[in-house]
Amino acid sequence: MRKLDKIYEGKAKILYTTEDPDLLIQYFKDDATAFNAQKKGTILEKGVMNNQIATKIFENLTSVGVETHFVKHLNEREMLVKKVEIVPIEVIIRNRAAGSLCRVLGLTEGLQLACPTLEFCYKNDSLGDPLINEYHIRALGLATDEEMKTITKMAFAINEHLKKFFLDLKIELIDFKLEFGRYKGDIILADEISPDTCRLWEVGTGNKLDKDRFRRDLGNVEDAYKEVLRRVTK
Ligand code: ADP
Ligand code: UDP
Repeated sequence: MRKLDKIYEGKAKILYTTEDPDLLIQYFKDDATAFNAQKKGTILEKGVMNNQIATKIFENLTSVGVETHFVKHLNEREMLVKKVEIVPIEVIIRNRAAGSLCRVLGLTEGLQLACPTLEFCYKNDSLGDPLINEYHIRALGLATDEEMKTITKMAFAINEHLKKFFLDLKIELIDFKLEFGRYKGDIILADEISPDTCRLWEVGTGNKLDKDRFRRDLGNVEDAYKEVLRRVTK
C-alpha cells in the first residue's frame, strides 16, 4: 500500500493517507513526551519496538473477537490501519493504583484495587486532557450514550484479555489508556497499546517495563521496551 500525504503528526506517531480512502498508515516515532508534553525526549528504536508490540497485542485482541483498527504490519515502523473518526476521549482502566490515581487520591503506588476502575479524559492537549465523566461527555456531545456503553464494555473486556496475555509473559498489567474510533457505523479500538500507553510491572520483581522509566528518569528505558518486545514475540 503506497503512502500518500501526511495528514497528522502527533507526539509519538504520524498518520499518512493511502490509495484506499478507508485506510491509513500509522508510523511510530522514537519521540517520547510526558507530563502533558512538558518533558520531551527520544527513546532509541522505540518506534520500531512499539510497532511490533502493538501489532502482537492487536493480533491477540483480534483473535479473541475484539474489533480493532489494525489491518497489517507493513515494515519496521509502519502499520496499516482503518481510518476512523476518533472519539475524543481517553479511556483509562486500572487494576492497581499508580500515576495520577495515587496523586489525586493519595494512594500508595501498587495498591491492589478491589475491582478494575474506569476513567475518561477529554482528549485536548491545550487543556491537559482533563478528567471528565459521562455527564460531561453527553453534555458536550463527545459520544452518544450507546457509544459509551459499547466503549465501556469493550474497555473492560480488553482489560481481561490483556491481563491474561501479559500474565502469560510474567508481566502484570497495572493500568492503560485506550482510544476508540467510529468506522462504518461501528466503534472499534484505535491508536496503539504499548509500553507508552500501559504500566507493565515484571511479576516477582515489580520492575517497571514501561514509560514510567522515562517519566521518572529511572534509567534503562530502552532495555525495558526491549524486554517487553522480547516477551511478546517469544
Ligand atoms: P497525540 O495526538 O496525542 O500526539 P500520537 O502521536 O500517538 O498522539 O498521534 C496519533 C494520533 O492519531 C492520535 O491523535 C490518535 O487519536 C489518532 N489515531 C489513532 N488511530 C487512528 C485511526 N485509525 N484513524 C484516525 N486517527 C487515528
Ligand atoms: N496514559 C496514556 N496517555 C495519556 C495519559 C495516560 O497513555 O495521555 C496511560 C499511562 O501510560 C498509564 C495510564 O494511561 O498507563 C494511566 O495514566 P495516569 O492517569 O496515571 O497518568 P500519568 O501518571 O501518566 O500522568
